[in-house]
Amino acid sequence: MLIAVHTLGCKLNFAETSHILSQFINAGWRQADFTDNADLYVVNTCTVTAVAEKKCRNAIRQAIAKNPNAIVAVVGCFAQNAADEIKKIEGVDIILGNDQKHNLLHYVNNLLRHISNPSIASNDIVSDGEPTITDVSNFHLAYSHADRTRTFFKIQDGCDYFCSYCAIPFARGRARSATVEETMTMARQIAQSGAKEVVLTGVNTGTFGANHGETLLDLLRRLDTLEGIERFRISSIEPNLITDDIIQFVAHSRAFLPHFHIPLQSGSDKVLRLMHRRYDTTFYASLLLRIKSAMPDACIATDIMAGFNGEDDAEFDKVCAFVNSLPISYLHVFTFSERPNTAALRMEGRIPVHHRREHSRRLQQISDAKKEAFYLSQQGKSRPVLWESDIKKDMMYGFTDNYIRVRRHANADLINTITPFTLSRFVPDDEVFENC
Ligand code: SF4
Repeated sequence: MLIAVHTLGCKLNFAETSHILSQFINAGWRQADFTDNADLYVVNTCTVTAVAEKKCRNAIRQAIAKNPNAIVAVVGCFAQNAADEIKKIEGVDIILGNDQKHNLLHYVNNLLRHISNPSIASNDIVSDGEPTITDVSNFHLAYSHADRTRTFFKIQDGCDYFCSYCAIPFARGRARSATVEETMTMARQIAQSGAKEVVLTGVNTGTFGANHGETLLDLLRRLDTLEGIERFRISSIEPNLITDDIIQFVAHSRAFLPHFHIPLQSGSDKVLRLMHRRYDTTFYASLLLRIKSAMPDACIATDIMAGFNGEDDAEFDKVCAFVNSLPISYLHVFTFSERPNTAALRMEGRIPVHHRREHSRRLQQISDAKKEAFYLSQQGKSRPVLWESDIKKDMMYGFTDNYIRVRRHANADLINTITPFTLSRFVPDDEVFENC
């Protein structure tokens, strides 16, 4: 039997898809490409923006068109929040939300053995408006191999912050994680798999351990002693949860890299308040200065949302001025779109969609300039690079510790090794450094 998977959205989803796929492979299934014929198509969905949901619908339709006789399973965040809509798409057989998606093999086996009819199990939003996913306390550790050099390791799930624009707490439930000890057990498995770099991922990673009286720093200290893994990156972490202890720990650790992803979302204090974010611009700027003072070459990326409620021209000017003033390396720019069940729907001050797009375009320009400035600030330096397995046109690629993309002539012996590399020549069109 052939299974084909398609993942949308964040690194967490990719880790979870890998976990689901490995359950099928262990049960004797073989993997097919999503564009090929398969017996089962799995679409692991995202609900973070309206654009993400559109891509989910397209992927579902693509699977149904490819093989109308196949089982089509739609799982994850969009499945969780929009089961009623997905049910109406003819050809979808299984819809599983974020808790039940880890039991997909069971649902597929029941369908194949005619024990059950097509299944919907999405912890649907019930009639009083309370999403039942918030009752879910199960946590599933998972990891994926981006290639055989780097792994995305899911250490945390869910979020209790309920930012006013965000549907993720409704899709993934309350913040939760495994214990440090349980997490270390899976980290040892990853180390045995041969991957050299691990990216710690979660919805709100900084809350790791809170449901067990532990902290993220407890985990980081243990991971730093793990033999076999040479590099760790911490993916997106909320600004209010990066303590000075974490900054100092990363600055002096064996394996944690000078690379942070710290969502800002807006550079206007008025908009941050409307977003229900837990910091202001003064706090954020001070945090970045403390990181840069401990690690001057650190790469700091951020998420920013264009066109949220209240972001009129005057506030947007403040956003641009603030972002320009920060030692940020690049931005992930999102355009605000109204999400079901969120507090933003009840607010005034909506920004017309064409203004949102214009704000997004200008923020992307700022990001491009920031990225080039960051890359050029590193020119001439020597940094350790982990070489990846993809080889294109006789060139191989890798990332420095501070997340600068580099390339050199291919040498298969270097794959999955870390070597020093001098950042000699920046190629702006390809956003990459060469040393020749
Ligand atoms: S911190 Fe805010 S934006 Fe991030 S997942 Fe939680 S609610 Fe969403």
